[in-house]
Amino acid sequence: MADRDGVIWLDGELVPWRDAKVHVLTHTLHYGMGVFEGVRAYNTDKGTAIFRLQEHTDRLFRSAKILGMGIPFDKETINEAQRTAVRDNNLESAYIRPMCFYGSEGMGIRADNLNVHVMVAAWSWGAYLGEENMTKGIRIKTSSFTRHHVNITMCKAKANGNYMNSMMALQEAVSCGYDEALLLDAQGFVCEGSGENFFMVRDGVLYTPELTSALEGITRDTVMTLARDIGLKVVEKRITRDEVYIADEAFFTGTAAEVTPIRELDNRPIGNGGRGPITEKLQSMYFDQVLGRSTVYQNWNTLVG
Ligand code: PMP
Repeated sequence: MADRDGVIWLDGELVPWRDAKVHVLTHTLHYGMGVFEGVRAYNTDKGTAIFRLQEHTDRLFRSAKILGMGIPFDKETINEAQRTAVRDNNLESAYIRPMCFYGSEGMGIRADNLNVHVMVAAWSWGAYLGEENMTKGIRIKTSSFTRHHVNITMCKAKANGNYMNSMMALQEAVSCGYDEALLLDAQGFVCEGSGENFFMVRDGVLYTPELTSALEGITRDTVMTLARDIGLKVVEKRITRDEVYIADEAFFTGTAAEVTPIRELDNRPIGNGGRGPITEKLQSMYFDQVLGRSTVYQNWNTLVG
């Protein structure tokens, strides 16, 4: 990824892609204390537009507050940096990665007197879990790794270090031949995927886990809003893995994963073993929204300009 043309926004400057480097003693590299976002821009009729830009920036600032990091820029500057990263790399659609990290001024875990740096990169990134799987659905496995405990990891923060747990779970699932992991929380209830929120449908009702140790997903919020708009009942509750085994439909949501159907959990087909009708409907509503074909929530699409 490091060797390509383009520019990266770093601390207020546009730096050539290959020169956007940090020192090996960068504090965040050692301890994982940093916060980031994953944002997407889509090619709409009116031009390239970032989906729910303000909400992503707001979450970045909330994550930083939770970790006690002061971001040395205001939200408007970070919004503008994301638009710039897409525009100046000539991207029609993009995945955008803002991150705030500590510098190399010291190594103690006291983390005092450290500078907070901010970077924003953008590049093309297709369907995160594979294009074919957007219709076919993915096969997932209950992870042997438990999701974060609410008083060990700060689950409302999208923090760098939190993703060690995600990567262990995903690597395990992939090495066993599955596409993604389903992580259970510390009490044994369904929590989320390694980088996605979880939904299931049973008897026409949409269920998703309560937000305790799962990330407060922006796609989750989008899908819940769209579901309510078509009269679906949406229930946030504790879900057990065997409830998923007997669900009619299941899917993951995330900025990268968008709306990805789940066709199997632990080798048990879910519903008809493919993408269910409610999943398909919500998926198409989601794409209508991000691609600017639906005008219902126009303020969710920010033109790059
Ligand atoms: N859970 C985790 C652990 C994630 O990394 C993500 C991706 N940011 C999500 C859920 C989905 O969040 P969003 O819809 O805001 O991308």
